[in-house]
Amino acid sequence: MKVVVVGNGGVGKTSMIKRFCKGVFTDDYKKTIGVDFLEKQLYVPSIGQDVQLYLWDTAGQEEFDSITKTYYRGAGAAVLAFSTTDRASFDALPSWRSKVLEQCPGIAMALVQNKVDLIEQAVVSSEEAEAMARRLGLKFYRTCVKQDLNVTEVFTYLAELHDRKL
Ligand code: GDP
Ligand code: MG
Repeated sequence: MKVVVVGNGGVGKTSMIKRFCKGVFTDDYKKTIGVDFLEKQLYVPSIGQDVQLYLWDTAGQEEFDSITKTYYRGAGAAVLAFSTTDRASFDALPSWRSKVLEQCPGIAMALVQNKVDLIEQAVVSSEEAEAMARRLGLKFYRTCVKQDLNVTEVFTYLAELHDRKL
C-alpha cells in the first residue's frame, strides 16, 4: 500500500517516515529523504498478516503548493500532519484534506498532531485539534516522532482502514 504524508513544511513528515521505516531520528533539518519513498513491512493484527507499506515523502514542494499528481497516484492512505508548534500548519489542514481527496477520492486518512513533546512552544491545544478532527471526520493521533510515540499506531490504523474499505 502506498501511503502519502502531507502537511506544511517543517511539521515532521520526513522525520516520521524515517522514524517508522528506519527507526532513526535526527534533529538537523534536512528537507527530504532524497528518494521517492521508503518501505516498511508491518504486521497488522486485525488483518492477520504483514502489509508492505510504501511511504512517499514530498520533495519539500509543499511550500510552493506544487505537489505533483504523481505523488498522489495510486495512494491507498494518507497522513495529514500538523505541528503543535505551528499555527499555520494547523490552519492549513482543511485545504490539505481537500487536495488529497481531489486526487484520491475515498482514500484512508488520519489526522496527526506531531511534536507533542514541545509543550512550552505549543500553540494548538488538544481540544482544538480534536474539534478539527471531528470537523474533518478523521481519526486523530498525537505523536512525538522524536520519542517514537504513537507513530506505529498511525500506520497500523491506516492499513486497517484501507483493508476495510477494499
Ligand atoms: P517536514 O518538512 O514536514 O518533512 O519536517 P521534518 O521531518 O524535516 O522536521 C522538521 C524539524 O522538526 C526537524 O528539525 C525535526 O528534527 C523536527 N521534528 C520532527 N518531529 C519532531 C518531534 O516529534 N519533536 C520535536 N521536538 N521535533 C521534531
Ligand atoms: Mg520533509
